[in-house]
Amino acid sequence: MKIYRQQSLIRPDLQAHIYSQALLNNVHNLKILCPADTKFCGVVKANAYGHGISEVVNILKKTDVDFFAVASIYEAIHISQMVDKQSILILEPVSANAPPDHILLCAKNRWHCVISSTEALDFVAKLLSGQKHKLNLHVNVETGMGRCGIEPAQAAILIAQIDRCPNTNLAGVYTHFATADEQDLSYAYRQLDAFNDFLRKNRLVGRKDTIIHAANSAATIKIPESHFDMVRCGISMYGYYSRPMNNPAVKLTPVMKLQAPIVGVKTLPAGHSVSYGRSFTTTRNTTAAIIPLGYADGYWRCFANKAKMLLGNNVVNVIGRVSMDQLLIDVTDIEEPTIGQMVTIIDNNHESPCGVYALADLAETICYEILTCVHAHVNRIVH
Ligand SMILES: *Cc1c(COP(=O)(O)O)cnc(C)c1O
Repeated sequence: MKIYRQQSLIRPDLQAHIYSQALLNNVHNLKILCPADTKFCGVVKANAYGHGISEVVNILKKTDVDFFAVASIYEAIHISQMVDKQSILILEPVSANAPPDHILLCAKNRWHCVISSTEALDFVAKLLSGQKHKLNLHVNVETGMGRCGIEPAQAAILIAQIDRCPNTNLAGVYTHFATADEQDLSYAYRQLDAFNDFLRKNRLVGRKDTIIHAANSAATIKIPESHFDMVRCGISMYGYYSRPMNNPAVKLTPVMKLQAPIVGVKTLPAGHSVSYGRSFTTTRNTTAAIIPLGYADGYWRCFANKAKMLLGNNVVNVIGRVSMDQLLIDVTDIEEPTIGQMVTIIDNNHESPCGVYALADLAETICYEILTCVHAHVNRIVH
């Protein structure tokens, strides 16, 4: 018997189709919302929102995207070999506890880092002192997000320190909106006012080599005054509005479609319970198909007995509990369900019964979480 040794845990049978043209069109459509010289930062954190960071970066690296934003230095390391044209922005703030070699790596590779404390700057300054490298820093100004920005008064001090330090460069000043995706934009405009105040007081507008940025996807689409020198788009690049929008100002097309094959077909008599906990009982002679996918792959357990899938053009129901790596669908009404036939699990269509918005509704979450849950071991197939 031949023994197979598999190097990776990638599952070829679970297929996330990644449509390059949709991704490129979304970026193009977002860019034309902004003045022509506005830089575009593609946010590829969280495995590119579940789409596959290597695949997405490979598609976008040949375009006029200016920056890739990642969550951590680990993601920066992962994509650095693939990227030569774009700059990499690491969103996790530099901390005074960071391993020294991380800071050196960032400086050597000219990665852009976020900073939001004077302690972190002291640490960086000491570490790089006497070196020929300069670390590119973006100051995250607190204007209302209440997460990891630095209060404006402190931020002004921090900027002066960065300017004085021979080993640091003020590459950016930015803020982040808490509510740009909401219908009521009054709080977002208050944040924008606070940011503009800060920029004015510190004479940062038009400063050479310092990129001012604020807008996430929702602000890029809805708050043109927030574009400044660069926009940072994540969810919209992948084809989604932060939440479903009526008459959106920009056309976005979903980039990913998730499919898996039928691996078994069985008949159950009426009155037979299905899967763990017996949460579903057949009411008729039922043909059920087994799909080798479950919550360990990113398909939520709470979809049991609620979610739909597509078999060709037919809508089918998920029946019984979703297991760790398996689930069942009811294919009684399908003419000839066959082993190997591909089932669409997450559709690349906003209105689809198994589209991301529909699934997010079922899970009482946002489209971001449905997408980022698609496990890294799912095979990404780029078209
Ligand atoms: C994740 C993130 C974004 C992207 O947000 P989207 O709503 O997905 O466009 C932008 N800026 C920062 C700082 C982020 O953390």
